[in-house]
Amino acid sequence: MSDCIFCKIINKELPADIIYEDDCMVVFKDIQPKAPVHVLVVPKKHIVSLAKLNSADQDVIAQMMMNLSAIAEKVGLSDGFRTIINTGKGGGQEVDHLHVHLIGGRPLPGF
Ligand code: 5GP
Ligand code: ZN
Repeated sequence: MSDCIFCKIINKELPADIIYEDDCMVVFKDIQPKAPVHVLVVPKKHIVSLAKLNSADQDVIAQMMMNLSAIAEKVGLSDGFRTIINTGKGGGQEVDHLHVHLIGGRPLPGF
């Protein structure tokens, strides 16, 4: 989508600290990290949010979820990690392109 920041990062029209990329997703550092490790796992397909998924997105979602643990290892979170997906205005989603926050590297409070 032409006015989407994350699509622009995916298309290399905007810079980002990309730490992993494959056919399905891009992983880059969050510009305002909330922890020593804070990366965003972003599908290359412009999916707006979890609330807007359709059946054609199943493979993309599965591939992202199946890869999270390997990505966490790659960024040094072999001991465990937190994942957050904000959805919609009420969920605090600021960028309307689905993304998983992968966070760790400090003690994280209980939720
Ligand atoms: P949300 O609130 O939508 O779940 O999270 C959006 C995240 O994207 C925020 O943590 C914010 O810091 C991050 N972000 C917003 N714009 C950019 C950007 O241009 N580059 C990077 N790397 N992260 C961004
Ligand atoms: Zn997008």
